Amino acid sequence: MSKQTLSFQAEVKQILHLVTHSLYSNKEIFLRELISNASDACDKLRFEALNKAELFEDAPNLEVRVAFDAEAKTITITDNGIGLSEPEAVANLGTIAKSGTREFMAALEGEQKKDAQLIGQFGVGFYSGFIVADRITVESRRAGLAPEEGVRWSSEGTGDFEVETITRPERGTSVTLHLRDGEEEFLSGWKLRSVIGKYSDHISLPILMRKEEWDAEAGKQRLTDEWTPVNKAAALWARNKSEVTAEEYEEFYKQLSYDTEAPLAYTHNRVEGRSEYTQLLYIPAKAPFDLWNRDKRGGVKLYVKRVFIMDDAEALMPVYLRFVKGVIDSADLPLNVSRELLQESRDVKAIREGSTKRILSMLESLAESEDAAEREKYAKFWADFGVVLKEGVGEDHANQERLAKLLRFASTHGDAGVSLTEYVGRMKDGQEAIYYITADSLAAAKSSPQLEIFRKKGIEVLLLVDRVDEWMLAHLFEFDGKPLQSVAKGAVDLGKLQDEGEKKQAEEAAEAFKPVLERLKEALKDRAKDVRVTTRLVDSPACLVAEEGDISGHLARMLKQAGQDAPKAKPILEVNAEHALVKRLDASAHFDDLANILFDQALLAEGGHLEDPGAYVRRVNALLVG
Ligand code: ADP
Ligand code: MG
Repeated sequence: MSKQTLSFQAEVKQILHLVTHSLYSNKEIFLRELISNASDACDKLRFEALNKAELFEDAPNLEVRVAFDAEAKTITITDNGIGLSEPEAVANLGTIAKSGTREFMAALEGEQKKDAQLIGQFGVGFYSGFIVADRITVESRRAGLAPEEGVRWSSEGTGDFEVETITRPERGTSVTLHLRDGEEEFLSGWKLRSVIGKYSDHISLPILMRKEEWDAEAGKQRLTDEWTPVNKAAALWARNKSEVTAEEYEEFYKQLSYDTEAPLAYTHNRVEGRSEYTQLLYIPAKAPFDLWNRDKRGGVKLYVKRVFIMDDAEALMPVYLRFVKGVIDSADLPLNVSRELLQESRDVKAIREGSTKRILSMLESLAESEDAAEREKYAKFWADFGVVLKEGVGEDHANQERLAKLLRFASTHGDAGVSLTEYVGRMKDGQEAIYYITADSLAAAKSSPQLEIFRKKGIEVLLLVDRVDEWMLAHLFEFDGKPLQSVAKGAVDLGKLQDEGEKKQAEEAAEAFKPVLERLKEALKDRAKDVRVTTRLVDSPACLVAEEGDISGHLARMLKQAGQDAPKAKPILEVNAEHALVKRLDASAHFDDLANILFDQALLAEGGHLEDPGAYVRRVNALLVG
C-alpha cells in the first residue's frame, strides 16, 4: 500500500494544540508516557500469548530499549510487545477512544503552570511526545503478522498524519522523536537515565540503554554496543516492604493514578491464608473529577503472579471505595480469568473483603489518631470523599458499624466534624435517641422550626444536607443501641427530657385548643393529613411533619427534582398553641385565610414550594387590607 495522509480526529487536534503550546512544566514526562505504553504493549502480548504461545515468536524476553542519536537529534523508544497493525495505528494514534478531552482541557485551564503531568490521566499520553518533538515516527509490526505487514506512522503533530506499509522483521514498536530546537538536553544518557529513574523505576520489564564509555581522544562519552538495564525491573509490590522507600511508594502511586499529589495513605501487605495475594492500596489525597460517577472504572489493577490481567477490576473493591487506587497480585487465580469469572470467584470475594477491611482500618487509624495532624488528614479526606463513603452504609452491611463510626456531620452544637460516637458521648441524661434533620442546605437546616424545642433544651441535632443522607438513613436505624430519629417525622416525644410541669401545661393547652383544632382540620382537609398541637415549636406558629413511615418533604422534593414520582403523602400540620398568631385564629373573621397562610408558611419554612403562590399572595393581601 502506498503512503496515505489522514486527518486527526478533531479532539486530537485540540489536544495537540494544547500539548505543543501550553505545557511548560515537567516536560520530561513524555518519556514516562512512552515507556508506560511500551510496558502496556508487553503486558498485552504476555496476556494474549497465554492462549497463543507462538505470538512470542523467537523473542520471549520482553524489554524496552531507549536510545538517542545526538547528531540526528532523535530519541527512540523500542519495545517487543504486541505491536500495532496498520488499522490499529490509524485508529489508536489518530483518534481518542476515551472521552476525557474536555476534562483534560478544563483541568489545564485552572492550572497556572500548565503541568504536563496531567496528560496521562486522560488517556492521551502518546501525544505528550509532541511536547519535545516536532515530528514523531512510529514503526511497528503486530505480533503474529508477517514481516511485510509492518506499518510506519508519522506526523508533525498538527492537522494530519501519514501511514504506509513497511517490512519490519522485529515484532513490536519503535517510537522515534525528532526533537525540537532547544530540547537538546534530552540527548544525553545521563539525563535520560535520571528521568527513567525518577518515573519508571518500578516498571517490571527491563529498560535497557547503551552503555557509554569515556572517549579520551574526543574528550566526551561514546556509546558502545552493549545494552545494560537502567531500572530495577522488579514489580514494586513484589519487593519487600522494608526495601521500598516512601518516595518509591509515592512515585508508583503517581504513575498509577496520574495524580500529581502524594497519596493520603497507603498499605502494602502480603496476605496468606485461605487466599494468597499481595495488596498495595492507596487512598488519594483529593477527589478526582469524576468521583460521582458510580459506573466509573475502579482504580485497582489485577495481576496474577506478576502477569498483568486487567485494569479497573471492579470486582476487587466495593463501589463505595471506587476512589482507592492500587494493585492486587493474586497467587491463586487462573491466568485466563475473565471479568465474569471474577464476579463469581471465591478467591476474589476473599480479596475484596480483605482489602475493604484494610482500607477501613487505614481510615480508622487516621480518624482516631492521637496525632492532631493525622486527624486533620481524616477531616480533609471526609470533606472530599465523605459522600461516597456514606454509600457504603447501605451497601456493605457487614461493615456498617465500622462505617457508621467514620461518618462525620454538622450539628447544632458546632462544626462539621461531629461523629456519632461524639454525639452519643454528650447526649443529655434521659435522652434516648440520636436526633437529626435533613435539608437542602446547612442554612435551611439551621433555621428549621422543628429544631426550636431542641435548641431551647440544648439537645444536639445532626444537620444532614448531602443528597445521599436520606438514602443512607433508610439503612442506618441505630448507632450504639440508640435509634436515629428525624425531628421532622412523627410526634416529638422528648420522653424523659421533658419535665412534668411542661407536659401538664401542654396537655391543658391542647385541651383548650380542641375546638379550634377541629376548625383547622376542616379548613385544611385537602392539604393536611392531620392538624395537632405540638410542643416542638418555640418561636414559630406552625410546622409540617411527616407521619412516621411516610417519606419526608425533603426526600419528596429530592425525588421530584430527580424526575422520579414521589409517593404522595400529605403532611401533618403542627401548631404552637402558645403563639400569638395561633391564639388570634379563633376570633378572626378570616379564619380560612389564616389557616391556609399558616400551612403555606410552614411549607416555605422547610424549603418547599407553594403549589399556588398566587392564592397565598391574595390571602396575605386580604389580611393586610383588614
Ligand atoms: P493510553 O495508553 O492511555 O491508552 P496513549 O495515548 O498513551 O493512551 O496511547 C494510545 C494508544 O496507542 C494505546 O492505547 C495503544 O493502543 C497505542 N499504543 C501506544 N503506544 C504503543 C506501543 N508502544 N505499542 C502498541 N500500542 C501502542
Ligand atoms: Mg499511555
